[in-house]
Amino acid sequence: TTSIKESHCDVLIIGAGPAGLMAANWLAVQGLGASVRIIDKRSDKIFTGQADGLQCRTLEILHSFGLGEDIWRQSNRMIEMRFWNPGADGKLQRTGSVPDTIPGISRWQQCVLHQGRIEKSFLDSIHRHSDGKLAVERAVLPESLSIDKASVDNPEAYPVTVEVRKLSEEEATPTQMGNSVPNGLFRSSLAPDDTPSGAAGTGDRERIHAKYVIGCDGAHSWTRRQMGSKMEGDQTSFIWGVLDAVPITNFPDVRNRCAIHSVDSGSMMIIPREDGLVRFYIQVSELNRGVDRHSITPEMILATAKAIIAPYTLDIGEGDLDWWTAYVIGQRTADRFALHDRVFIAGDACHTHSPKAGQGMNTSMQDTYNLAWKVAAAVKGVSPRSVLATYEMERKQIAQDLITFDHRFSRLFSGKPAKDEADAAGISMAEFQDAFLKGNRFASGLSVDYQRSLLTVKPESSSKTTVDGGEVVAHAAVVAPADGVASDPSLSAEDAGETRIDVGKRFNTAQVVCHATALPYELADWILSDGRWRVVYFCGDVRESICAREMQQLGDYLSSDLLPRFTPAEQDVDSVIEVLTVAATPRAECELADFHPALRPHTTKHHRKTADGRYNTSQDYHKVFVDDTTYHQGHGRAYEKYGVATQYGTMVVIRPDGYVSLLMRASDHAQLGAFFEKVLLPAASHKPHQHTRVKRTTPA
Ligand code: FAD
Repeated sequence: TTSIKESHCDVLIIGAGPAGLMAANWLAVQGLGASVRIIDKRSDKIFTGQADGLQCRTLEILHSFGLGEDIWRQSNRMIEMRFWNPGADGKLQRTGSVPDTIPGISRWQQCVLHQGRIEKSFLDSIHRHSDGKLAVERAVLPESLSIDKASVDNPEAYPVTVEVRKLSEEEATPTQMGNSVPNGLFRSSLAPDDTPSGAAGTGDRERIHAKYVIGCDGAHSWTRRQMGSKMEGDQTSFIWGVLDAVPITNFPDVRNRCAIHSVDSGSMMIIPREDGLVRFYIQVSELNRGVDRHSITPEMILATAKAIIAPYTLDIGEGDLDWWTAYVIGQRTADRFALHDRVFIAGDACHTHSPKAGQGMNTSMQDTYNLAWKVAAAVKGVSPRSVLATYEMERKQIAQDLITFDHRFSRLFSGKPAKDEADAAGISMAEFQDAFLKGNRFASGLSVDYQRSLLTVKPESSSKTTVDGGEVVAHAAVVAPADGVASDPSLSAEDAGETRIDVGKRFNTAQVVCHATALPYELADWILSDGRWRVVYFCGDVRESICAREMQQLGDYLSSDLLPRFTPAEQDVDSVIEVLTVAATPRAECELADFHPALRPHTTKHHRKTADGRYNTSQDYHKVFVDDTTYHQGHGRAYEKYGVATQYGTMVVIRPDGYVSLLMRASDHAQLGAFFEKVLLPAASHKPHQHTRVKRTTPA
């Protein structure tokens, strides 16, 4: 018998698609690169096709890793959505135009860029942040997974054992199903799972003992099956085809996002892409109309597209078809996302739905964005394992909302347009346009509103934005706060009602002015994804005696109590919780020295060099901002935008993933300790780790 290599790692990630790479990046950024592994059964990464749409929230997240600007620059921005429908004479006509992204919702708008380039950005970032120690191990297949239940609660244990096998080149290369143009059929819902069966494999085997396993292995997820998690939901009968091509057409709106409903040839969506490409989503047929799923070819998809877009013409020149695929829509979610909070699944492994609303890749990355900081904090001894339970609770709700949204959107998109008001079986085009507009907030990723938990301190029945965009009472507080926050220190409903900061939602950005330099910044440019918690302290106008007194008390509390409690002495004082102050005082009316020293600490213990060798501007002078006019970029009116008072202080506690945990009056500062006691372990239990340095960028 051949001997099996034995090894240990903190985290094993299975699958290097968007979800797996986001997880690996997040862990690398937090200094865990050397103790994380990421494997994928494929020999190569994706070069063409698959997902392309990036939503506002995903761009915000990428920006918080210093990756947003580069991706934004390469992408095609989507500005307008146009609707084409049959007129009274049955001829196709433009019936409406709406903004593709709700204006003002984010500083970013939806854009499209090929999934492979997004993955490339992650791969580069992972390399930089891990000093080259973390790289995707390709052509490696997991073959068994077991958990030692007796040790799952011991933070130091390695309870998960995964045996993996190195695949041959042949086993690791997806077949192109006999086609010459690259296509995605091998991973489509129309094709069976093509995972090689292990029995006959001869490649080297390894037994990996891991503290945590994150399964990001896509819709056919092997990890999900090992967990005994089941997919629940429906499969529709509509077959859709996708063509990525440089088209030849006289259709006037081919460089806009369009939804086209033809009288009776089906529907099509047009997505203008980078590099002159256009993506066409084409409803090819219904399965139950006797179409053989294997007979679908790019020629057949194009023929259907031509019928839908007639009388306009549509052709693809020789060599101008870049990629194609076909799929049937299923709307399903996994019944569990975690096992013993040691094995997790994320991304397509726990939700599948139609790709037209551009949600899959975005939601997949946001799943592991939610998860990986919690895993890192548990591994590093920074947080108790109890924070891990919030992953399934928070993301399962999002997956369910996504399915509801997609169900509605797909039905309206796939259905035939109503001939007139009496045509009850047909889809009303006004309803479709309305659903698009209402669904847009959900689709942007910005309506995510995490439930009450130890991470999110809010009243039991707070309002929540539905997938339809309306405000309703929450889907009930799904889980009672894990043994509650001692006393609820959140703002009274009256005070909170006036702010535009929502506990559970992402903390939005506003322009502020750096006191030290007079430079305008978006506050988000300083709220980086580097694993730190943040307290944004709106101190009010420091010339007011109430504000000055509160600041004195808060500063003393931070420096003598809160920060030392959770920050190891050998680390910088801002390395676990960073406090950023925004004053309502004009810059000329206050000096840095007017701000308590705890709000502008010297952080000299870590090097300020970023992973790519450049220096971040010293943060010491970038912790105090004012809400004032600037020489070149006007006034940010941040206090107005956030709806916070100028005559007393307000504090916002922000999780490492940018969501608001707690909103409170500065005078209640002593309650900060009660909150952090639930989510952070005392400094003595933190393992020594590198202070992370994400490169801060300001987008053009
Ligand atoms: P995947 O991308 O599927 O990655 C899974 C990885 O795991 C793969 O690399 C695979 O090789 C590996 N793997 C699988 N099984 C194993 C195993 N047993 N062992 C080891 N490795 C394994 N989403 C959007 O947000 N916007 C869009 O515009 C969009 N358009 C789309 C268009 C099309 C045509 C399609 C098909 C999808 C589209 N999606 C879109 C959806 C998007 O592609 C997926 O939701 C996204 O890729 C899911 O990411 P993931 O990391 O969860 O899984």
